[in-house]
Parts: sequence; structure tokens; C-alpha cells
Amino acid sequence: MCIFCKIINKEIPNNTVLENEHFLAFHDLYPKAPIHILIIPKLHVDCFQDVSPQTMAGLTSFAQEVATKVGVDQTGYRLITNNGEDGAQEVKHLHFHMLGGGHIAWDHSHEDNHKNI
Ligand code: AMP
Repeated sequence: MCIFCKIINKEIPNNTVLENEHFLAFHDLYPKAPIHILIIPKLHVDCFQDVSPQTMAGLTSFAQEVATKVGVDQTGYRLITNNGEDGAQEVKHLHFHMLGGGHIAWDHSHEDNHKNI
């Protein structure tokens, strides 16, 4: 079982922000912004490439609710998902990072960034 499934099953503790039947939002253990929330579907899916449009439909309104709950709905935030090896995805359970609480710098973080690849 993956680490996020263990969090869903409450085998590993988490700092929950919002939860419903299908989704869970919790604080990232190693925040990269003043507000850094992870939003995950409870049904295991490895990554964005494998997720259904139906799950994404529910995730949209859930993420909007999370933004309101943590107070970034008006100030703004970045919502990103890392997909697969080149996307630097570490945990193989679909998750969206919600980053906010201050201006988020844009960084492509590619080793060959200077070559515009
Ligand atoms: P990614 O690199 O997109 O797969 O992101 C995985 C994220 O999960 C990282 O930002 C980690 O800090 C976060 N993370 C890993 N384990 C935990 C955990 N037990 N609780 C909260 N966040 C976690």
C-alpha cells in the first residue's frame, strides 16, 4: 500500500485541512510555501495521466473549497501536479500541490533550463 493510501486509512497521521467521501486535503510535511496543501483522491490512482475526468470534476470543486478554507481563494495560489519520472513525481498516488500565502516564484527547475529545453 502506498504512503498516501496509508494516510487515507489513518495508518499514518496527517494534518487534515478538509475531507469528504472522495477526497482528502492535508498539510505537506515539508512545506515549500507558507501554505502548502496536498489534495488527493481517496481512490488510488498513480498519477494525473491515469485519472478519470469524473474524478477530476469532483476534485475541481473540492480544491476550490480547500482554497477558501485556507484563505487563499482571493489572494491566489498555484495548483500543480508532478506526473511521472520527468515530472519529478516522488509519491505514486495522484496529488495536487496547493501553494500560496505569498507570491510563488516561477521555476521550471530543469537541469538544462538555460538551453530553453
Ligand atoms: P511529489 O514530489 O510531487 O511526489 O510530492 C510529494 C510530496 O509529498 C512532497 O512535497 C512531500 O513533502 C510530501 N509528503 C511525503 N510524505 C508525506 C507525509 N507523510 N505527510 C505529508 N506530506 C508528505
